[in-house]
Amino acid sequence: MKKADVVVIGAGSAGSVTARRCAEMGLRTVLMDRKPRFLVGQKVCGDEISKSHFDATGIDYPELDEISSSIDGADVYPPSLDNELRVRGWTDFDGWTVHRLNFGQRLLNDAMRAGVEFLSDCHATMPMMRGDQVVGIEYKELDEKEEKKIDCKLVIDASGFAGVIKRKIDSDLIEKKIEKSDVALCYREIVKLKSPMDEPEIAGVFLGGKYAPSGYAWVFPKGLQEVNVGVGITGGEGKGSPKPYYFRFKDEYPLLADCEVLEAGGGAVPVRRPLKSLVANGIAFVGDSALQVNPIHGGGIGAGMRAGIILGEVAKRAIARRELTAKGLWHYNLRFQSGFGQRLASLEIFKRLLQDVSDEEMNFGFEKRLLEADDLMAANRGDGLSFSMFEKLKRVKRGIGNIRLLRKLQRAASLMKEMSKVYREYPSNPEGLEQWNNRVLEIVQSADFK
Ligand SMILES: Cc1cc2nc3c(=O)[nH]c(=O)nc-3n(C[C@H](O)[C@H](O)[C@H](O)COP(=O)(O)OP(=O)(O)OC[C@H]3O[C@@H](n4cnc5c(N)ncnc54)[C@H](O)[C@@H]3O)c2cc1C
Repeated sequence: MKKADVVVIGAGSAGSVTARRCAEMGLRTVLMDRKPRFLVGQKVCGDEISKSHFDATGIDYPELDEISSSIDGADVYPPSLDNELRVRGWTDFDGWTVHRLNFGQRLLNDAMRAGVEFLSDCHATMPMMRGDQVVGIEYKELDEKEEKKIDCKLVIDASGFAGVIKRKIDSDLIEKKIEKSDVALCYREIVKLKSPMDEPEIAGVFLGGKYAPSGYAWVFPKGLQEVNVGVGITGGEGKGSPKPYYFRFKDEYPLLADCEVLEAGGGAVPVRRPLKSLVANGIAFVGDSALQVNPIHGGGIGAGMRAGIILGEVAKRAIARRELTAKGLWHYNLRFQSGFGQRLASLEIFKRLLQDVSDEEMNFGFEKRLLEADDLMAANRGDGLSFSMFEKLKRVKRGIGNIRLLRKLQRAASLMKEMSKVYREYPSNPEGLEQWNNRVLEIVQSADFK
């Protein structure tokens, strides 16, 4: 049996960054992935990531063959396709579309350079338990029948949305059931366009039931003449697969006429607040496995990287103190949930508003500019939707034809504020978790805008 301080399951963006940070902190770290090494990083994704996540984590910006395009802004279209909102000129929006495989390979190489031992073609199967404490991991190598084991102090489940180890642990701290309406089912293609784009640095986002019920369609540039184009719809209510919506969008959006498909595939991404606890005894969760994804747009690369840095530091502290219980690892919860987690949780309210308003209401809101680009940026930064009295009056005047919608907007703003407050008051130990989570659930339940 092998021994390590930490075993990280999954070498996606979250797992690779977490493993690297653990190794940098002096921990003997094993990172395992079921993929062969040369495929690590490949993933069906929109490939868009903002620069702000790199600034927040100190991770080097993507460069050279990791970059497909620089992105400087986005145009957001309502269902009518008229009165689009141009979100441009905001430095905190700047970023890139990345070459997902090359970017992922770089994160893995960085981890290995920091001292991480990488095991490719290894499929983690079961946690090893001593009582209710995780003490290692069982795994199988490709084409081998025999189960192997690694004994360790901390297991980190970074296996993506499937959360393969999380599902096998019985603990009140761990949420396993995720509502269908909190999962975006996506289908996307990378296509070569017939002619170059006029604005290859501007992303396009399309709202409304025709192309993406309770979700959105996107066109993210990848160079002058290539785009990553897809549709994500939130599940449930008999909406089925995103594919028919995708093909409708592709047929009707002029830019995509006669394009050549280079790559295609589907995937799922969670779109709600993070798990109520990111740790249990001897185990922690990071990335999609922890539901660390921006609920509005499903972007999770940055959130997982941010969490990975914190988790590596908390792992070091917990191992040094020999406190590998949930309580000993709680600092990860405290740092992430009251920081970036707060932002994600408040955006869940905004997502619910977008899911619940009708196409007509959305068209009206865009036409009358009830929300402006700086509101969207402020909400995305975690500053909520707080309007000055003067701004409120201006918008009431503009939205006078639909007071109901104005009221919904106002209520969403106040619930976002409340959610942020509750997340800033994350309990200092596991004993306070249920009471805290009840406050969260109360806010979520009142975020019904139908
Ligand atoms: C269609 C789509 C579009 C998206 N667009 C964007 C976007 O534009 N920008 C953005 O920021 N985010 C986007 N996301 C979300 C983003 O892709 C994820 O949030 C992010 O990749 C999660 O990283 P992760 O490391 O947690 O998980 P993953 O990238 O899923 O990595 C998990 C790793 O675990 C490995 N693994 C799984 N099971 C096992 C096992 N049993 N044993 C060993 N290894 C295992 C897998 O092989 C994989 O390498 C999108 C998602 C989808 C589906």
